[in-house]
Amino acid sequence: KNSKLPNIPTSIFSVMSKMATDHGALNLAQGFPNFPSDPALNALVDQAMQDGFNQYAPMAGDFELRMEISKKIESLHNHFYNPETEITITSGATQAIFTIIAATISKADEVIIFTPAYDCYAPTVELFGGKIIPIQLKPPFYNVDWQEVADKISAKTKMIIINSPHNPSGMLFSEEDMLELQRLAEKNDLLVLSDEVYEHIIFDGNIHQSASKFNALAERSFITASFGKTFHNTGWKMGYCAAPEYLMKEFQKVHQFVVFCVNHPFQKAFATYLKDVNHYLKLSNFYQQKRDFFLHLMEGSNFKIVPSKGTYFQMLDFSEISDESDIVFTERLTKEFKIATIPTSVFNEGGKDYKQIRVCFAKTDETLAKAAGILKEF
Ligand code: PMP
Ligand code: GLN
Repeated sequence: KNSKLPNIPTSIFSVMSKMATDHGALNLAQGFPNFPSDPALNALVDQAMQDGFNQYAPMAGDFELRMEISKKIESLHNHFYNPETEITITSGATQAIFTIIAATISKADEVIIFTPAYDCYAPTVELFGGKIIPIQLKPPFYNVDWQEVADKISAKTKMIIINSPHNPSGMLFSEEDMLELQRLAEKNDLLVLSDEVYEHIIFDGNIHQSASKFNALAERSFITASFGKTFHNTGWKMGYCAAPEYLMKEFQKVHQFVVFCVNHPFQKAFATYLKDVNHYLKLSNFYQQKRDFFLHLMEGSNFKIVPSKGTYFQMLDFSEISDESDIVFTERLTKEFKIATIPTSVFNEGGKDYKQIRVCFAKTDETLAKAAGILKEF
């Protein structure tokens, strides 16, 4: 009775990273790059420290950075967020997600998520007394059946959480998906949390359908993004939340007591770095080459593979290789074959039998070649 989350285990990312270290395995599990963040960006952080930005930032974040984010969203998605009132800099998307849910979800509110779902949504909703209504997405394409969503909306539904590009499947929401979502959100007066941390990692000429692109949807959405994912420095824990003023006000009421503000020199550095749009516009191409390199190396493998459309993750179906559960299979891969991956059933109550593991390809070509070498043995 002393636990508010009695059924929540340690996050799979901690579990697999530790298992990888303990067994000297390649870590393609937790999603982070094994190449450096840009030295020019690192130098901007040093410079900001030398310039004296070592005390609290404004609560909502450095204003110059909020302006750059506002400009970025407007140029990409044609929607204006007022940097004074509609953007807050956060300690990664994780803190933004926690804060959004804390600010909006009360006891008995229902929140729809699509499973497999990133691991922080459900526990955070439960922490505030909300109830998760999962909607199962099915391999290989993980598409949403919007009729099913409509059927699961009740008078208690408060929010729908979406994540496109989707971790772990690499699926993307299309424009039609977003229009369906907008229609349902308006009709049922719902809030939307749009987790867009992989917004700049989209392949094969597809475009990112941000919730900010759809006016009526943007009016009821919190959008969150992660600099860690975009700029190869997940350990800096930097990101932001954008939302219309009436929602951002509620967000900031909580944010000010969770962290007050996030670290100042890194914000200053990103404010300068974001001015060069190439720093994020070239990212899709960069990761598409990595995906293609890995898929090329995996040709002829016994894993069944549907190419990822976005994110830096690739799902591998091992149903023709083993009858083991994905938990047992990934444990064996780590301990015996020295490669750590993610068993996706941990994000996926209803998909325990899917036999899908997730590989992170944000790795050097050398690591990818080694990884493919091991995986092709099966
Ligand atoms: N959402 C998704 C879908 C993620 O994959 C991650 C991991 N980066 C996060 C949120 C958290 O992002 P951050 O590291 O910026 O807290
Ligand atoms: N988002 C990363 C992933 O999906 C992990 C982040 C974390 O460790 N919490 O692998």
